[in-house]
Amino acid sequence: MDNAKREAAEVAFDLRSDVVTVPTSSMLQATANATYGDDVHHEDETTESLQRDMAAMTGHEAGLFVLSGTMGNSLALRSLLSQAPYAVMVDSSSNMLLWESGHPVEPSNGKYLVLEDIVNKVILDDDSVTATPTRVICLENPIHGVVVPRKEVQRISQFARAHGIKLHMDGARLFDAVVAGGGTLSEYATECDTVTMCFSKGLGAPVGSMLVGRDSTIRQARRLRQSIGGGIHQMGVLSSMARVGLDEIFLAKGHDGKSKMAKNHEYARRIAELWIQSGGKISKPVETCMVFLDLEAASLPRGELITLASEHGLKIMSERLVVHHRKCCFPL
Ligand SMILES: *Cc1c(COP(=O)(O)O)cnc(C)c1O
Repeated sequence: MDNAKREAAEVAFDLRSDVVTVPTSSMLQATANATYGDDVHHEDETTESLQRDMAAMTGHEAGLFVLSGTMGNSLALRSLLSQAPYAVMVDSSSNMLLWESGHPVEPSNGKYLVLEDIVNKVILDDDSVTATPTRVICLENPIHGVVVPRKEVQRISQFARAHGIKLHMDGARLFDAVVAGGGTLSEYATECDTVTMCFSKGLGAPVGSMLVGRDSTIRQARRLRQSIGGGIHQMGVLSSMARVGLDEIFLAKGHDGKSKMAKNHEYARRIAELWIQSGGKISKPVETCMVFLDLEAASLPRGELITLASEHGLKIMSERLVVHHRKCCFPL
């Protein structure tokens, strides 16, 4: 067995995250057929066309291919913020807060932020001089597998615009929200000033995220990307694999009219059903690729679940199970 095949077999029973996927042979093939122009000088057609197409799909002026979701979020924030002092408001359970940085707001519904949560905590420019005004609100969508309704994004966006606050969406898994029926990429993205989307999560590419926004914002993000060492000369090697992930996992439909991503969601729902049929509870609705088992209700310590899973050949790291396209299709 060649290396790629062996790796693929190894991740088939790995439900720790959708980042565990290894490149498909079509991705590796794409790198061989990519263009190899210098992306730092806008000379790589593979990367330029992916940026153009993603901007068009999301209804934004421009796109910037970056190495990771963290890099995309960080460049977005640094491009949207100008003169200090400023505050960035993020969901208290969001990736940007827990793993990147932020000003936390607790979602009152236990799932995602709604406008009322934001209004309660926002600091407007005309408030006291000692309070740092909120300049950017960040929404994660989906958040812990739960799709943020488009209506809610619209309400928050209207409020933000009315108060001169920018809206960033950490859409690391926005493709999943679209497949789950939350709205189209552009319906979500046009409500926001900037959006980050990852190719390395459900789309299965080894690296890459796309940041979209206005021309001026993306120009600034591009300068910042260069300053932190994110300018890659032969970017086509990477962006070509991202393109395959977009085409094959998200856009392409099988004979049954469903994308690979849609099938992952079905599989996640099936896992949840089995858990519920065996008397278990889930702690978040299963709307995309994630299943959160309620261990408290099952009186099962996390360590025990991980050991049990491992005895059955399944690799997990917590009560969160993430279905990805490299899963083994054993009949459930
Ligand atoms: C994974 C993830 C990120 C970070 O992406 P990396 O490519 O790992 O840097 C940001 N936000 C969310 C919601 C994520 O799931």
